[in-house]
Amino acid sequence: MINSETKVVGVFGYPVAHTLSPDIHNTAFAWANLNYVYLAFEVRPDGLARAINSLKVLKIEGVNLTIPHKEKVLPLLDWISPVAKQVGAVNTIKVKNGGLLGYNTDVEGFSRALKRSRIDAKNRAVLLIGAGGAARSVAVSLIRSGASEITIANRTVSRANALAKLLCKLTNIPINVIPLDRRHLASAVRKGVLLINATSCGLKKSDPMPIPADLLHRKLVVCDLIYNPMKTPLLYRAETLGCKIMNGEAMLVYQAAQAWEIWTNRRPPLDQMFRVLHQALVTRERRGWT
Ligand code: NAP
Repeated sequence: MINSETKVVGVFGYPVAHTLSPDIHNTAFAWANLNYVYLAFEVRPDGLARAINSLKVLKIEGVNLTIPHKEKVLPLLDWISPVAKQVGAVNTIKVKNGGLLGYNTDVEGFSRALKRSRIDAKNRAVLLIGAGGAARSVAVSLIRSGASEITIANRTVSRANALAKLLCKLTNIPINVIPLDRRHLASAVRKGVLLINATSCGLKKSDPMPIPADLLHRKLVVCDLIYNPMKTPLLYRAETLGCKIMNGEAMLVYQAAQAWEIWTNRRPPLDQMFRVLHQALVTRERRGWT
């Protein structure tokens, strides 16, 4: 029951209406019998500093950050974890002794998701499509997992170059940038690679494929960070060809689980978190994909 002792956590984002994080976290709090509540706060970009300030004023335990706040929040914090510094993005804040501590749980979220799907990035050449916030976390995770080479393809090449520059500071492995066009993608997928879609292409029915379907072949391992729909056209096509595939569901759960642990100092109930997310996604899919 929510009462005067209930501890508040949540997510700041814009837009935030469709987030499934409250479902995952509140289920976990109920299962662990913890008096916490997780709320979604719509925070516009120009309100971020005031919202962050309110964490201390309102004695909120911590928050997740999602689009578009993960990078902008850095100068507003008192301490940033080494991983979050590497990525240049914070997705979890804990308020401790009046200080604001920033973490990035997307990196571990992706690493653990790969492990769960028995996909090993070690010594693998990776084609990473996308260069936004999610791609940054994925790229850092891949470097930590021992990938042998990362090729970044993005619609806006300057953004891919910026990501490559960041990665070159962290590793000696080859980091290549290619334009998101047929010729370059064809040559990148010729060798058997781990292909990761970190763009938002596939969220809507009208979206183009991030890579032309006919360039896919069965030696690829294909991951898509999108979890709604659970199987994007990219994953459908790859599965039809016999490729091993992974969607973004497990990454979402593992990043939430690590944040939950940071706030509560308890082991997160992973099975329950997976179950509630999957049920919510199935329900959304029954309602129809737009
Ligand atoms: P973001 O920072 O806004 O980046 C979006 C990326 O998609 C950019 O690389 C952008 O290219 C590309 N893109 C968008 N529309 C495109 C189009 N029509 N053609 C080609 N490229 C296009 O977003 P983000 O935070 O990185 O998120 C990216 C995706 O990852 C989203 O689908 C999100 O749902 C998913 N995600 C999943 C998890 C998880 O836990 N599973 C976590 C975070 C994000 P430009 O640079 O050229 O604009």
